[in-house]
Amino acid sequence: MKTHNLGFPRIGDNRELKHALESYWRGETSQNQLLETGARLRKNNWAGQKALDYVPVGDFSFYDHVLDTSWMLGNIPARARETCGSPLDRYFRTARGQSAGDGEANQICAGEMTKWFDTNYHYIVPEFDPSSGFCLDAQPLLDQIQEAQKSGVTPKPVILGPVTYLFLGKAENIDKKTLLKKLLPEYARLLNLLADRDVEWVQMDEPLMVTDLDNDWKLLVEQAYQTLGNEAVKIMLATYFGSLGDNLDLALSLPVQALHVDAVRGKDQVPDLVSRLPEHMALSLGVIDGRNIWKTDLNALLDQLAPIHDQLGDRLWLAPSCALLHVPVDLEKETGLDTELLSWMAFARQKLVELDLLATALNQGRTLVAAALEENAKALENRKNSARIHNPEVQARLARVDDSWGQRNQPYPERAKIHKERLNLPLYPTTTIGSFPQTKEIRALRLKFKKGEISQDAYTAGIRDQIRTTIEFQEEIGLDVLVHGEAERNDMVEYFGEQLDGFAFSRYGWVQSYGSRCVKPPILFGDVSRPRPMTVAWIGYAQSLSEKPVKGMLTGPVTILNWSFVRDDQSRADTCRQIALAIRDEVLDLEKAGVSIIQLDEAALREGLPLRKHQWKAYLNWAVGAFRIAANGVKDATQLHTHMCYSEFNDIIDAITRMDADVITIEASRSNMEILNAFDKTAYPNEIGPGVYDIHSPNVPSVEFIVANMQEAAKRIPKERLWINPDCGLKTRAWPETKASLKNLAAAAKELRAAATA
Ligand code: GLN
Ligand code: ZN
Repeated sequence: MKTHNLGFPRIGDNRELKHALESYWRGETSQNQLLETGARLRKNNWAGQKALDYVPVGDFSFYDHVLDTSWMLGNIPARARETCGSPLDRYFRTARGQSAGDGEANQICAGEMTKWFDTNYHYIVPEFDPSSGFCLDAQPLLDQIQEAQKSGVTPKPVILGPVTYLFLGKAENIDKKTLLKKLLPEYARLLNLLADRDVEWVQMDEPLMVTDLDNDWKLLVEQAYQTLGNEAVKIMLATYFGSLGDNLDLALSLPVQALHVDAVRGKDQVPDLVSRLPEHMALSLGVIDGRNIWKTDLNALLDQLAPIHDQLGDRLWLAPSCALLHVPVDLEKETGLDTELLSWMAFARQKLVELDLLATALNQGRTLVAAALEENAKALENRKNSARIHNPEVQARLARVDDSWGQRNQPYPERAKIHKERLNLPLYPTTTIGSFPQTKEIRALRLKFKKGEISQDAYTAGIRDQIRTTIEFQEEIGLDVLVHGEAERNDMVEYFGEQLDGFAFSRYGWVQSYGSRCVKPPILFGDVSRPRPMTVAWIGYAQSLSEKPVKGMLTGPVTILNWSFVRDDQSRADTCRQIALAIRDEVLDLEKAGVSIIQLDEAALREGLPLRKHQWKAYLNWAVGAFRIAANGVKDATQLHTHMCYSEFNDIIDAITRMDADVITIEASRSNMEILNAFDKTAYPNEIGPGVYDIHSPNVPSVEFIVANMQEAAKRIPKERLWINPDCGLKTRAWPETKASLKNLAAAAKELRAAATA
């Protein structure tokens, strides 16, 4: 039996990659220094994986492995191809864009970013058009293979497979499927070059195989591997993030020498796979969860694996379920967490130790690792029974929840009448999504408080100053529904997780989100409850400064769930409902404090959609149900808002409607209101604020742009139900452009109102 890994986190133990990239981009360090950091990180990663039979190479990236693939294949967007600087600079420009003046004559827009399957990792979307051609440059990968060989490991190059590469791209004026025939010769050349370097195994990632594929795509998979399967290197076709489902037959029919499957999420498919595995194929079982941070139940796993090992012998490989890119690097650093919690968890390095234990136990007998196995069993037993996980009150309350908890008293049209009277808002009310610029000053204030350098009073006074400035500015330009600005939050999930029971926070548990950006997801380990109000004091203070309504600002339960590492000992649906109850408590406390408008952000609702369509309904049911529990306990006089910053609603609009928020604000500025077609078709019955200010860019939207967009919106949705707002929060923006943009927004509203009454 062999062991391997599909990929190791690239960011380094101390986010060295982030720091090296950002100082290079600021011009403080040289390209050589950056390259050296990269080489050091790779070497370190390989050293940590020495115990494995095969070690991934090509999993490292200075920005993103999909972008690397585009570069390796010579598929570089025209806008970046001919620009100045080194190839590495052009590579970064493809990803990040560039403003005029930074050595370049013209502004270059950034590459489009999208989530990698159902993870929170973002890749740079490959671009295809009729002129797309491919021309292999494998040198960087070949160099890394040599590096790996020198450092004494057996490299197994990790390559994004041709079909998934096409699948992930966006195509203009061409059917991207037709490009496979141009792509395959380059992949074949690559495999030959690898064979020349004594590479035995190549890992070809085709995660598209865990999604619903139509016959065209299935045919492409078949064509690709009928061609590549006969090259001089052995191919392990790697699938992950789910089970093969109806693509299983296809996978087993391919002339590849090994198949990797996700045996955590796709556990059910394992028996079938084992019994049907063709003689020429090895099977890699991804048995260690690469998407979560809990220890594996090694003893139970060994019981399951022993008969499979007997049957397959050395055709059995073991690995994590997917690349370890999606978990933090090393638990050893977490000195801040208590030993009990720590004993339940495994980060990337610890997962590889688990893998090693499994291999030893299977290859040489369990007695050799008896002590470690016993320790593992103890830790799991302790976790199962710990009083810190189980809160009978929470469970009892959850059992009492029935449909009425998610139900407003009267339907929207009736509520709207009450709101009209209570809030007295003009036509086209203006508002923002919540956060205002997070200046250096604000971040420094929070940091000082966290480090204990300033007192609670000094901190409160500092944040109140920010709130006051923000409220005064909104008053000055005449916005209608104000926000407090979220200066006290560094992150919309962490802020709440820190105040809820059942959550823990690592200090170094960073996971790459995109490029140099990392996130540190909260760890939801136990039953969730809210010991005390979380936002009431800040919102109450903000409201005390203005006659206008100030929105209470909360993160919704689905988003908190989707952006955390959550427990694996109960369903996500149950965990989500627990979070919903905690948020409900906050909603009701805000209402009690006199807050008339409350917003629950559900920025991550859509990204929680399962990869398989037949699972969507169940997900949307419990997700919407949880939102409703959190939101809809309010009186009819309270106006409930939700916010979602994406622009694909077509396929989930029914679920969005079922949430029954009085107002939804969405991202719309870049699609020029096209997105509203979705809301139009099913006649979304409540109020909508389509974003008219693209907050991802420093550009200031003009009054004409905003007016034109809102007029476009008014063609689809009666103006009585429209709001005017930005696409999302303003925390990443600077004050000057924020001020200018919001002034234009307010001015546009005035114009639209005048036109409507004329
Ligand atoms: N209220 C949050 C903010 O304004 C919403 C952020 C988000 O949707 N991603 O920052
Ligand atoms: Zn948003």
